[in-house]
Amino acid sequence: MHNLTSLMNIIGLLSILVIIALSFILMFKAEQIKQLRLTATKLKKSLEEMDEQAKLIVRTDIELNKAQEELDKKITGLYAVQRISRAISTALEENLIFQKIEAAHLEDLGFEKACGFLWQTKENKFIPHLYIGYSRDEINNIITRLELNKKTYLDLIEDEKTLSSISMSAHPQVKNKINELFAVTSFVIAPLLPKEGSKGFLFVGTESTDVTINEGDEELINILGNQIGQALENARLFEKTWLAHQELEKKVEERTRQLSLALEEIKKVSQRKSNFISSVSHELRTPLTSIKGYAAILIEEKLGQLPQAVKERLEKINRHSDELVHMINDLLDIARIEAGKTIMKIEAQDLKDMVASVSDLIAIQCKNKNIELIQDIQKNIPLVLVDHSQIERVFINLLGNAVKFTPVKGKITIKASQIGEMVQIDISDTGIGIPQEALSLIFEEFYRVDNPVNQEVKGTGLGLSLVKNIIEAHKGKIWVESKLSKGSAFSFTLPVSKESNG
Ligand code: ADP
Repeated sequence: MHNLTSLMNIIGLLSILVIIALSFILMFKAEQIKQLRLTATKLKKSLEEMDEQAKLIVRTDIELNKAQEELDKKITGLYAVQRISRAISTALEENLIFQKIEAAHLEDLGFEKACGFLWQTKENKFIPHLYIGYSRDEINNIITRLELNKKTYLDLIEDEKTLSSISMSAHPQVKNKINELFAVTSFVIAPLLPKEGSKGFLFVGTESTDVTINEGDEELINILGNQIGQALENARLFEKTWLAHQELEKKVEERTRQLSLALEEIKKVSQRKSNFISSVSHELRTPLTSIKGYAAILIEEKLGQLPQAVKERLEKINRHSDELVHMINDLLDIARIEAGKTIMKIEAQDLKDMVASVSDLIAIQCKNKNIELIQDIQKNIPLVLVDHSQIERVFINLLGNAVKFTPVKGKITIKASQIGEMVQIDISDTGIGIPQEALSLIFEEFYRVDNPVNQEVKGTGLGLSLVKNIIEAHKGKIWVESKLSKGSAFSFTLPVSKESNG
């Protein structure tokens, strides 16, 4: 009994232990289940998040592809605009500018239809200059209907804004009218706004319903419109410049014609003057010769003795007659040379010899005034092609003047040097000089500067005119440089002879 009780106790104890152990196990399992549930919830959440991210990635990928497509479209469009710009920049006529826009360019911009109109103020209507994707009849139909609705398009130009089927969605009625008029489903219209010349608009559109126009298209067509506007302006400016050039050429032609008429007239007058001088001189020479002859007979007292006072007067008559003859001869020479009637005996001459011989002639006058005469002839100076006696006259006249207008103890220099195909001779002095205002006049007949020397010494004012005529008859030039109280330098050129100066 005792044993049974103990066994029962043991069993009871064991049961309690088992129950306790089972309770522990149950508790542990419940905790495990709880943990598993938590993990499962977490996993579910992560899965959901991953799903969300996957969806996002797909969406981003689609958007990226779309953006890439947009970008490609834009680049192709930009290239097309660049090609059109390059082509139209060389066109200098309105029509040529539009002709340079081709269907292929338009395709790259995503359109198959285009037309360009310019507003002609004089005719008060839009004139088409471009149509792609339309037949002539279709365009005529568009022009007729445009005419009825021109205000809309004139306002568009006035507003200087680019419009498209998107930007006009707020005005469906106008948009639909445009769609209908140009037979398209989407379009862009850009104003053409040259600063010079006719304004207008460029229309591009498509019939395709797959194409959707966006702001990028609007921007591209706006750029294209600006480029066309600039090209139109350039063409207008070119036309203006060209017209101005034509006008100028006409004027130049007219002036040239007037000048040659005036030159002809001058030649005629000059010819008449030469003829007049020559005939008057001849007329004067005959009576002068007889005056001189009678005076000579009287002075020689062939007709009886004369009182001294009469003889002195007669000698004066004789002297003055000589001066007059001298003057008439100079005048006759000038007239003859001017008229080309003087026959020049052109030969190769040695300038050194000529200068030496005229220096000899003038030496006495120089000595009398204590003037130093310097010869500065370039070494190996070539021979010159001249009429010896005429050029000697030139030297004598110029040196005579130099001596006359140079005070005592002055200096006269004769310089000669080769300049290309000519020899230049400069005769300079340290004389009284010539006032600036007289420099252009002294080569004219009878002109003499009003100075103390001229008041004292007689002269005709014909010497320099004769000299100029002789030099020009040799195809040379003559000019003078001078400073009052410092001196003058007369320079002239003569042609070089091909013959060598041995
Ligand atoms: P003329 O000597 O007979 O007066 P010219 O035709 O030779 O006529 O000269 C015209 C004028 O030019 C002279 O009167 C003088 O006033 C001026 N002239 C010429 N040569 C010189 C010179 N070397 N220096 C100053 N004046 C000069």
